[in-house]
Amino acid sequence: MVVSEWDQLKLHLQEWVEECRESSAAGKVAEYIPELSKAKPDLLGIHILDAQGRSISAGEAQDSFTMQSISKVFTLILALMDHGESAVFAKVGMEPTGDHFNSIMKLELVQPAIPFNPLINAGAIVVSSMIKGENAEAKSARILSFFRELAGNSNLEYDREVYLSESKTAHLNRSIAYFLLDKGVLGCGVEEVLDIYFRHCAIKVCCEDLARMALVLAFDGKDPLTGKTLIPRRYVQIAKTFMVTCGMYNGSGEFAIEAGLPAKSGVSGGILTLVPGRYGIGVVGPALNSKGNSIAGVQLIERLSQALDWSLF
Ligand code: GLN
Repeated sequence: MVVSEWDQLKLHLQEWVEECRESSAAGKVAEYIPELSKAKPDLLGIHILDAQGRSISAGEAQDSFTMQSISKVFTLILALMDHGESAVFAKVGMEPTGDHFNSIMKLELVQPAIPFNPLINAGAIVVSSMIKGENAEAKSARILSFFRELAGNSNLEYDREVYLSESKTAHLNRSIAYFLLDKGVLGCGVEEVLDIYFRHCAIKVCCEDLARMALVLAFDGKDPLTGKTLIPRRYVQIAKTFMVTCGMYNGSGEFAIEAGLPAKSGVSGGILTLVPGRYGIGVVGPALNSKGNSIAGVQLIERLSQALDWSLF
């Protein structure tokens, strides 16, 4: 008897979660944003959603966490929808750095001085400064309502504690923003752009929200559950390409070899990934590896991809 992929998932997902959970012990919860250090290190959850609205979840998939860098994929898309490709890529590059996500090392290396890509902090800060709106509040409101639409969840909100915690301690991001201001690549002032950036990083989600957002990317911008096109296909193509080349920061190469899927991680331990034309997937596991990616989450996605032959390559 041939067991369908969906049945295989139903059969094994919980067991794979428990196996991968063990690797959390080798990781560390992010502490540089003090509020994130409260997360449970051995938590691991996953939610997988398909185009018919069928879902499978395992582990602590209901727990909520902040999007952090996962949000950068969607602010990039919104900036592209606001301004088009040539305006956005005049201010931010398309190349991986091979450096840590908050590194300032390469900022001075290129002329004009634009960040290497939109998924490192420097690039995402530039992107946040490009979102259209009257003022910081209006820009943040547009981002939140775009995210709510993509997640099919009108209740998405900021985690105020995490937002304040990052805002008070973000000396490195502040220095990056001042550098960008000096080079003339910021579309607004330092505190305004950081407020927008910290807010979208602090949008609170659960694995199901990430899976639904990922499903829209998996279906080229059309939400298969409503039939509504939310993002032009070209911008999804750009976002997915960045996810493959830079989505897991300086761990992107290894992840492409081991899992072969577009993915984006955040320091809260969240990972959004997808199987094109098939599934949207949200994962959370707060213990991080040295690259700032969820240690158990990475292992779980690699495990799934290898078991079910999902690699795109
Ligand atoms: N808000 C975080 C920061 O700027 C996002 C980083 C991340 O998730 N990798 O440091």
